[in-house]
Amino acid sequence: MRDFSNDHSALTLNTATLGHNLDGYGAGWPVERMIDACTERGLGGIVFWRREIGNRAVEIGERVRASGMQVVGLCRTPFLVGPLAPPTRQQVMDDFHASIDMAAGLQAPVLTIVVGGVIEGSHSMTDSLKTVADIVAETLPYAAKAGVKLALEPLNPVYGGNRSCLVSVRDAVDMCEAIDDDHLGIAVDVYHVWWDTSLEAELKRTGPKRILGYHLCDWLADTTDVLLDRGMMGDGVADLKAIRKAVEDAGYVGPCEVEIFSANDWWKRDPGNVLDVMVERFRSVC
Ligand code: ZN
Repeated sequence: MRDFSNDHSALTLNTATLGHNLDGYGAGWPVERMIDACTERGLGGIVFWRREIGNRAVEIGERVRASGMQVVGLCRTPFLVGPLAPPTRQQVMDDFHASIDMAAGLQAPVLTIVVGGVIEGSHSMTDSLKTVADIVAETLPYAAKAGVKLALEPLNPVYGGNRSCLVSVRDAVDMCEAIDDDHLGIAVDVYHVWWDTSLEAELKRTGPKRILGYHLCDWLADTTDVLLDRGMMGDGVADLKAIRKAVEDAGYVGPCEVEIFSANDWWKRDPGNVLDVMVERFRSVC
């Protein structure tokens, strides 16, 4: 297991941590200021959300690399199925392709897929997952051509109804096995997997080539909002070292991305202070 106590070069900011992904939250720092603040603190990379990039993907990607960091990834595809997905399959595919194009423009190696909730009226996680697998398989040649890998991110089961019918690492690994494509893998997010006692075995089953990302935050024992009340690492109940050990024992040695949605706490703080605390916690508790 890597020692981060004196080295945070693997630390990556997911810009959601500064509140930029939702209107009305965060300090409103432009992309350039976020890049500079991360560079000053010695971070290794940054992960953006599409809303921040607009039509400036190439320019922003170059700026990140000129600063000495990497664009580690892009969030995210549209929801592919369920109540929050675009209304038609064609619209899903068009937006899926647009998200791949943006990742390619940034030279982001990984695009995260949040698959969407159970298909309305189906009452079936299984059928919903089959449709997800069809859409992903159909899109993989486009992603491969663009040089972008797709990371299925299983979400906490609490989101099964609206945001993700993919709720376990087991099902994500099964989908990867079934589709079996070099450009498909999974993203492991502490918020979504901290409860899962089969995590270690499932990650070993899939192996290092398919683990495309590791996301950090914490689960607050008395969380007030499952979407927007994530904790800073060390403030919650997740066994952060054990989870990272499971990820690294499976062979992952890539970036560690801090992704904290926190409308009433961290998004209200000065972003510079948030970044300073993030670095300190990364070195001490992750
Ligand atoms: Zn995540």
